[in-house]
Amino acid sequence: MTEPGGSPPPPIPQREGESSEAPPPLAGGGWGEGAGAVLEVDLAAIVANWRSLCALHPAGPVAGVVKANAYGLGAQAVAPALAAAGCRHFFVATAAEATALRPLLPGALLAVLNGLMPGTEGAFLAHDLVPVLGSLAELDAWTAAAGRAGRRLPAMLHVDTGMARLGLAPAELEALARAPSRLDGIDLRYVLSHLVASEAPGEAINAAQARRFAAACAVLPPAPRSLANSSGILLGADFGSDLARPGAALYGINPTPGPTPGRPNPMRPVARLTARVLAVRDLPAGRTVGYNATWTAARPSRIATAAIGYADGWHRAQSNRGAAVFDGRPLALVGRVSMDLTTFDATDHPGVVPGAWLDLIGPARTVDAVAEAAGTNGYEVLTSLGPRIRRRYRPA
Ligand SMILES: *Cc1c(COP(=O)(O)O)cnc(C)c1O
Repeated sequence: MTEPGGSPPPPIPQREGESSEAPPPLAGGGWGEGAGAVLEVDLAAIVANWRSLCALHPAGPVAGVVKANAYGLGAQAVAPALAAAGCRHFFVATAAEATALRPLLPGALLAVLNGLMPGTEGAFLAHDLVPVLGSLAELDAWTAAAGRAGRRLPAMLHVDTGMARLGLAPAELEALARAPSRLDGIDLRYVLSHLVASEAPGEAINAAQARRFAAACAVLPPAPRSLANSSGILLGADFGSDLARPGAALYGINPTPGPTPGRPNPMRPVARLTARVLAVRDLPAGRTVGYNATWTAARPSRIATAAIGYADGWHRAQSNRGAAVFDGRPLALVGRVSMDLTTFDATDHPGVVPGAWLDLIGPARTVDAVAEAAGTNGYEVLTSLGPRIRRRYRPA
């Protein structure tokens, strides 16, 4: 049992066939500052997930989508690990995310999904970033920058086939098809579109988007294509393209069709979130726990209070619905999740004492299960995890 004063949580459980030696020390450790919650990120699992997606996408290479700080897991660690494994294409959302990663990804294609904002052309040029152009206005601005630079500039062209967020609308696509010379200043790396319901293979819109995408590419100058996200890769050959763009599946979120929990997750778990027990108290039957007294002890109970709360991105919607795992067995989350603390029913867990570490996300309690308890998806669970949670990395 963990002594008071604190020691790290036990290592990530070994998989069959893996060495039983202690894993090498994790970067970003240091326990003396009293971290209340720790997120362990298994970079080897991310690389293994990328390799399995490569095998599932024979039509072309597989990029790494590392926007939003690699879905909250730490883009500064994740992106170089993928690059070392051979990944040559990366997507982020914003130019700021891209400039922060550029020094770590020499020579890789680094594309900015949110496109070219007015006035950012210089930053794109200085850092060798590829804008994903989502309108004719952006295309013309990038073409003007190419004229000033005296050379063709690399870009991707985003075609809207159903999302109705970014990308050329049908009328813009028609206008461009009539005046293809508007692309003359552009080194068109990929034509791209984004699926709206790839995790629901029965949805008719998937096939409609594949058709619209093919039709759009047919009226544009020949260029490589990029279509599938994580779940799109699993939709099959019709959705294969010259470049797949998975994010979620790299990070262990189940890409197979819903409804949650969907089919067994083919990806390796990547994130392990643990929180330290600060206090344990005995409660007589009839007493309540937490804000607004939303949980009442039906029997004499032991309540464990862990050092994580909604300010850490541990969703309050899990109140009276969530769970933790200790020694492989679940503890119910009882009462309201508060800002910095969460309470669990440890009555049947005598091993849970102050200083113990509870598993909140990990092989025994998946990101997708947490998402279900919080009424959201795994993407939001991971990207919510806040800066008070210490990140540690298991090397690739
Ligand atoms: C976020 C994003 C992706 C990655 O999607 P996942 O579902 O996480 O695999 C791919 N393409 C675009 C345009 C995106 O915005």
